[in-house]
Amino acid sequence: MHAARSLFHQVVIVGGGAGGLAAAASLLRRRPSLDIAIVEPRDTHYYQPGWTLVGGGVFTREQTVRPMKEVMPRAASWLRTSAIGFDPETNTVELEDGTSLRYVLLIVAAGNRLAWEVIDGLPETLGRNGVTSNYSYDTAPYTWQLVQQLSEGRALFTQPPMPIKCAGAPQKAMYLSCDAWRRRGVLGNVEVEFHTAGAALFGVPAYVPALKETVTRYGIHVNLGSNLIAVDGPTRRATFKTADGEVTRDFAMLHVTPPQKSPTVVAESALADEAGYVDVDPASLQHKSYHNVFAIGDVGGMPNAKTAAAARKQAPVVAMNAVAVLDQQEPLAVYEGYGSCPLIVERGRVVLAEFGYGGALQPSFPNWLNDGTRPTRFGWILKKDLMPTIYFDAMLKGHEWLARPKMRDEIRS
Ligand code: FAD
Repeated sequence: MHAARSLFHQVVIVGGGAGGLAAAASLLRRRPSLDIAIVEPRDTHYYQPGWTLVGGGVFTREQTVRPMKEVMPRAASWLRTSAIGFDPETNTVELEDGTSLRYVLLIVAAGNRLAWEVIDGLPETLGRNGVTSNYSYDTAPYTWQLVQQLSEGRALFTQPPMPIKCAGAPQKAMYLSCDAWRRRGVLGNVEVEFHTAGAALFGVPAYVPALKETVTRYGIHVNLGSNLIAVDGPTRRATFKTADGEVTRDFAMLHVTPPQKSPTVVAESALADEAGYVDVDPASLQHKSYHNVFAIGDVGGMPNAKTAAAARKQAPVVAMNAVAVLDQQEPLAVYEGYGSCPLIVERGRVVLAEFGYGGALQPSFPNWLNDGTRPTRFGWILKKDLMPTIYFDAMLKGHEWLARPKMRDEIRS
C-alpha cells in the first residue's frame, strides 16, 4: 500500500502514447519552461501502425517498440502509474499509486481500449488455434506465421463496429495476407472472407472503388453487416451476428479486429460524452464544459478517424490552444478532422487515404506526385520507409511537419 500524497504540476497529460507525447513535445517547443507531468504506466512505447507490417512479414515486432524513457521528453516529469479517477471540479487526477495530482491544465490522451472480452471465447484462444490479430504486439507475428503455413482452407478477417483505431487496418491485414498467398501460388486454394459490422468497405466513398477492385482481384467474399460475436478456438468455429440471424463459419485462420471502447476511467468520469469519450469541441479540442481540459488522440470524442496521423495534426492545435488558456486568452487554432489511413492493397502499393470531418479529402501531396484515391508506390514508401522516422523523430519531438493548423479567422475568411 502507498501512503496518500498530493502533487502539483502546471500541466498534466494522462497517457504517453502517440497523442500524449506529441502534445507534450509541441507544448515544450512553444514554452520550454512549462512544468509538465505525463502519467503513463507502461515502460514500453509501441508504434502501433507498424503492427500491420509485422503481420505482413515486412517488419519485425522489435522495430515497433522503444523504451518509454527514450521517447519521454526530458523536460517533462514521467509519473509511472495509471490515472484511476478524474475530478475536473477540483482540477485533480487520482493515481493508482495513491497520489492526488492537481493541475492548472489537463490533457487526456489515454487512447482507445481494446475490448477483447466482448467476443465470447476470444481471450482464451487468441494467439493459438489459428486465431490471431495485428492489434496486439504479442500476436502480430502469429499472423505472418499463419499466412506462411496456410496453403488451403478458409481464412476469415473481421471488423467490429466503429469507432476503432485505424479503420483500414482490418483490410490491410487481409490484403497483405492475400498478396503473400498470391505470390506463393496458393491464393486459389484459400477461401477468403471479410466480415465487417459496417455497411460499406470504407467510410469515405472516394476510396471505395480502389478497395472494390482489390477485393475482386483477390476473390474475397465480402459480408457487410456481419459482426463477430463468438469464437471456439479448439473446433475452429466463428459465429457472426447478421441481419438474418447468427451464422457460424469454420476457419483455418481467423484474423480478429477487437471491438474498442473508451478507457473505463474516462468513460465513468465527468469528462465523458454519451459514448464515453472526452466531450471536446471538435475544432478547438477543448472540453465543452471544463475549459482547462483538452483531449488528443483516440480518447477524444470528435468524429475523426482514430489514427496516429490524426494525433500528429491535433498536437499543434492542442498545444497552441492550451498555451492560450494558460495565458487566459481565446483558443484560436482549429483542427479540421484530418486523419490518414495508408490502405495497403499489396506489398508495394498503398491507397493513401487522407480525409477530414465529413469525409472531405485532405491530401498532403499534389495529385501529380500521389493520387490518394489510387494504389501507389509512393504511398508504400511513405508507409514502410518514412512513417516510422516521421513518427519517432518528428511527431514525438515537436517537429510539426505538414501540420500547421489554421486559425479561426483564416477559416472564416
Ligand atoms: P495510444 O497511442 O494507444 O496511447 C495511449 C496511452 O495511454 C498508452 O500508452 C496507455 O498505456 C496510456 N493509458 C491508458 N490508460 C491510461 C490510464 N488510465 N492512465 C495513464 N495512462 C493510460 N494510425 C495511423 O496513423 N496510421 C496507421 O497506418 C495505423 N495503423 C494501425 C494499425 C494497428 C494494428 C493499430 C492497433 C493501430 C493503428 N493506427 C494507425 C492507430 C494509431 O496507433 C492510434 O490511433 C494512435 O496510437 C493513437 O494515439 P493515442 O495517444 O490516442 O493512443
